[in-house]
Amino acid sequence: MQSKKLIIGNWKMNPLTAKEAEKLFSVVVKEVSVIKKTEIVICPPYIYLEKLKKIRTSKIKLGVQDAFGGDVGAFTGEVSADMLDNFGVRYTILGHSERRSMGESNADINKKIKSALTSGLSVILCVGENTRDQDHGYFNFVKTQLEECLVGVSKNLVSKIIIAYEPVWAISTTVDRKDATAADSLEMSIFIKKVLSDKFGGEVSKIRIIYGGSVNTKDAEDFLKNGGVDGLLVGRVSLDAKKFTEIIKICETLNK
Ligand code: PEP
Repeated sequence: MQSKKLIIGNWKMNPLTAKEAEKLFSVVVKEVSVIKKTEIVICPPYIYLEKLKKIRTSKIKLGVQDAFGGDVGAFTGEVSADMLDNFGVRYTILGHSERRSMGESNADINKKIKSALTSGLSVILCVGENTRDQDHGYFNFVKTQLEECLVGVSKNLVSKIIIAYEPVWAISTTVDRKDATAADSLEMSIFIKKVLSDKFGGEVSKIRIIYGGSVNTKDAEDFLKNGGVDGLLVGRVSLDAKKFTEIIKICETLNK
């Protein structure tokens, strides 16, 4: 397990204006100036990157929510990992359930992962089952996601991979969502490590596993302490500067 814990904010398609984005980012920047032991990543919509890059901070790295699996060329509407790396982006979320629900397959995600890693980006690969069944078929579902998304990924690059376990049934926008518990996260993180160690051997210790799904200021500590994870992926609550920084501070106090 790597020592620095990781808190990632996924802004999704928010906020509506650049002014709001700058304000949100600036408040977080100010609040985290004292943070030393927690790695912080914020993934805004592409359109705000330019402005946010100008807000000086050594504490927050910029990430994105998707990156195309090619370099340059006739791919209308896409932004490539090379472009993002050249711009100064360091992380990309890939395989988020909201993109999967728009038709992205494990094979598509695999292509994007290879391209992002080749470009030098770190990849936050989202996996997670849509529902839980009595027969525990969801373990195999996550195993298949991991195996198919990571086909052909070299052992040498594993330190650039973060796995975000995001059970879709616990994500804030899922209709009739349910709370996941730290025990759910722990069980899955053990399973994910087993799948990854079968694939990458001892190198698995370089892969951080984080939890995401309606994390808030009340349950962040429990997930970090008891969920078997190295950090959190925060969606809705990352749009609230006060609550998001509270989660970062909780993480900081738990970091040894
Ligand atoms: C997400 O969808 O990546 C996420 C973590 O969302 P939320 O925290 O809003 O459930």
